[in-house]
Amino acid sequence: MSFAALGLSEALVRAVADQGYTQPTPIQAQAIPAVLAGGDLLAGAQTGTGKTAGFTLPILQRLSQTQGAVNPFGGRPVRTLILTPTRELAAQVEESVRTYGKYLKLTSTVVFGGVGINPQISALKKGVDILVATPGRLLDLHQQRAVDFSKIEILVLDEADRMLDMGFIHDIKRILKVLPAKRQNLLFSATFSEEIKTLADGLLNKPAMIEVARRNSTVEMIKQVIHPVDREKKAALLIHLIKTYDWDQVLVFTRTKHGANRLAEHLNHAGISAMAIHGNKSQGARTRALSEFKETDLEVLVATDIAARGIDIEELPHVVNYDLPNVPEDYVHRIGRTGRAGATGEAVSLVCVDEKDFLRDIERLIKREIPSVVIPGFEPDPNAKAQPILMGRGQGQGQGRGQGQGRGNGGGGGGGGGNGQGRGQGQARQPAKQTTARAAPGRAPARPAGGGAKPGARPPAGAVHRTGGRGR
Ligand code: AMP
Repeated sequence: MSFAALGLSEALVRAVADQGYTQPTPIQAQAIPAVLAGGDLLAGAQTGTGKTAGFTLPILQRLSQTQGAVNPFGGRPVRTLILTPTRELAAQVEESVRTYGKYLKLTSTVVFGGVGINPQISALKKGVDILVATPGRLLDLHQQRAVDFSKIEILVLDEADRMLDMGFIHDIKRILKVLPAKRQNLLFSATFSEEIKTLADGLLNKPAMIEVARRNSTVEMIKQVIHPVDREKKAALLIHLIKTYDWDQVLVFTRTKHGANRLAEHLNHAGISAMAIHGNKSQGARTRALSEFKETDLEVLVATDIAARGIDIEELPHVVNYDLPNVPEDYVHRIGRTGRAGATGEAVSLVCVDEKDFLRDIERLIKREIPSVVIPGFEPDPNAKAQPILMGRGQGQGQGRGQGQGRGNGGGGGGGGGNGQGRGQGQARQPAKQTTARAAPGRAPARPAGGGAKPGARPPAGAVHRTGGRGR
């Protein structure tokens, strides 16, 4: 099966070939014809499946086939709106729009919180065909009458389950209310909770349904292993693994921001270049860390779950769970960063006695036992007693204005942290006694001010990008 056989134009096929893709991935093979046909779509696909090209390519084709209107400022009103849960994902999706649309005359821009709003207002005034946005900032822009939704033809909700997890449902509903009723809707989600089904029922009209990976399944290609270890020896074990096996590009997950910072410092002291990314870092620092990591100038990126969402690094060889997540679905998302689009990868989890329940819940979810290998010199103390993992207050991993709706959970393992935007539970979780219930989303106020990021940090947002050629 070729991209041309899916009905894509020569300009798009050429752009895809430039990326070195020879064959559509399963989600692309199904989503591209469905979107080209013009109907609504409900797609079950995790990041790593090639879903971004799965919706971007047919959208570009549809928009390039018809002329958009001209708005009152003389620019073009937005014709496609793509909503994503995080800034990083928004930036990456817009980059894909530019990559695949490079031989077309369409324009795009990305808007998200944590960076100055004025460049975004100017970009929108000029007009763009495709707008990629996180919900909070988009509403701010709408309130300031900086964005015209009246000519939207296509709406995409990307990683819809993540958006709901992060408490964006009210923002999404507000956005839906002001969009034109007649439009094509595409909803992508890795999982299908009741909440997602309700959203889909209200949003989609007789959608085509596609599901490429088994729900909540781990990517088959990923080699998974657990290294049991005492909690105090985790950092030493990680350093040992990185040095012994010469890992040069490792994404490491911690439960908390504080834990991420501490671990990055630890690794740097050991001569391993590492940076932490999480919601308390400025957008500039996060963008810089990510690009250095992609270029492999940085060996280790230490991330919290929310900050890492949607991070796309091709063929990332190693993902390490320094702490197991307390939400088992997060394990699936974390390890999905490796073994992407056909590449093999390895997911290593360092598990201490405190995390036995988390491990049990994860194995139940993925319906398999993860092989366990004790590393010589790091044998765990068989008499070690489990300690409660503290569910600290305010663990919401806020991501800037409008994105402060963390889950109000996390904590423990790597220490406290959190920027106090989620409504944390402040309880201790006793391993081996309680089940790991998904904590209620710690919904922060709809409009928390700031998120730690500073305006003026070099924003990729706000610039209008022409996907190719001259503007119309
Ligand atoms: P996504 O699931 O959209 O985050 O994409 C995951 C990764 O797969 C990205 O790095 C893409 O560049 C890559 N990719 C997308 N489509 C293809 C394809 N047809 N063949 C190989 N790699 C692809």
